[in-house]
Amino acid sequence: MSDKKVGLISLGCPKALVDSERIITQLKIDGYDIVPTYDDADIVVVNTCGFIDEAKQESLDAIGEAIAENGKVIVTGCKGNEAEKIKDLHPNVLSVTGAHAYEEVVGAVHQFVPQEKKHDPFTDLVPDQGIKLTPRHYSYLKISEGCNHRCSFCIIPSLRGDLVSRPIGDVLDEAERLVRAGTNELLVISQDTSAYGVDTKYRTGFWQGRPVKTRMQELCEELGNMGVWVRLHYVYPYPHVDNIIPLMAEGKILPYLDIPLQHGSPKVLKAMKRPAATENTLERIKRWRETCPDLTLRSTFIVGFPGETEQDFEELLSFIDEAQLDRVGCFKYSPVEGATANELPGSVPDEVKQERFERFMEAQQKISTAKLKAKIGKTLEVVVDEVDEEGAIARSQADAPEIDGLVYLNGETELQPGDVLNAKVFQSDEYDLWAEPV
Ligand code: SF4
Repeated sequence: MSDKKVGLISLGCPKALVDSERIITQLKIDGYDIVPTYDDADIVVVNTCGFIDEAKQESLDAIGEAIAENGKVIVTGCKGNEAEKIKDLHPNVLSVTGAHAYEEVVGAVHQFVPQEKKHDPFTDLVPDQGIKLTPRHYSYLKISEGCNHRCSFCIIPSLRGDLVSRPIGDVLDEAERLVRAGTNELLVISQDTSAYGVDTKYRTGFWQGRPVKTRMQELCEELGNMGVWVRLHYVYPYPHVDNIIPLMAEGKILPYLDIPLQHGSPKVLKAMKRPAATENTLERIKRWRETCPDLTLRSTFIVGFPGETEQDFEELLSFIDEAQLDRVGCFKYSPVEGATANELPGSVPDEVKQERFERFMEAQQKISTAKLKAKIGKTLEVVVDEVDEEGAIARSQADAPEIDGLVYLNGETELQPGDVLNAKVFQSDEYDLWAEPV
């Protein structure tokens, strides 16, 4: 047993979760215990999110609670880029660092709660794949940090810097370790997965003694040979993404693409400075579906962006009607401190944003309901995420964990998280399915 114990609060997106996993892994290697309560911890690390105002507030509240409950607090993560503000509000915080500052965080833990007992590598073992905060059967695989785009509503590039792609060999090594440790679904994440390797000019790296390019295509091909579900998040509709679709049609990687499109009006997309804004996305989606008819498309949209007129909004409605996307999230635009969109004219009143949000959701719900209804009678491969006294909660290949729909297997209390089975769908609503094992 270690003599020093660390608590960790992890807020924010899957990318921040991966950072938390790395911090915990290093602390375990260094001989610290990770504990779940303020009372048991000698120090608490708060990994914060600084994306939107609500998340910033949640981060500040979490820091305040950790100080009140424990007293010794280290802050890291996206919100940590505003160190002065945090220190003004919480002067007792011991150290503040920004995102991906694993070494600084671990160094601060060593500084403020030094180990009295030396770490013994023979008794304090850390599994090869590191410590995971997600269930064992799925894992996020972060392939790069930062972003080269400058979307006008986003401050991530100023928080996290320009794109830095991880070497292909490191990414594939990590994927292989995760698969060996029981992961049967790899969720590829980054700020822009389609840009992987751009910063390195698609440098040729090495994996298992073979040359492999640092590029999305090669990454998908190699991951597709690992025999597990591979799901791509944060992909933009660039022409080279067309080359990935055949891998989906062949069953190498999941026929699933998460493409945050954000709008359907070229004028608004231009004001948003979105990547691939000039591409003919509807045409591209049509061709993708011709190559891979089972393709599930997920996207997010923003309504009420500055300058969005009723006509722009109606263009968005016709876009989603034509695109027939499977899974869609919608946000009402809210200004983020430091974003250039704040300077744009034509701010949309809150009641108009709300009304557009409701109209958007109603339109999308109809699409989603019809799409899910069409699955009744079909047999799908599903993976179990949770089991309780009422049955098992699973997902199909069309559902990413935490953001998409669920497949309920009522009464199946004997199944285990991570089990993969075939189930026949007998009922649906606007977001979820009900099925029974076959
Ligand atoms: S693509 Fe745009 S929204 Fe996404 S991280 Fe980069 S700048 Fe932000």
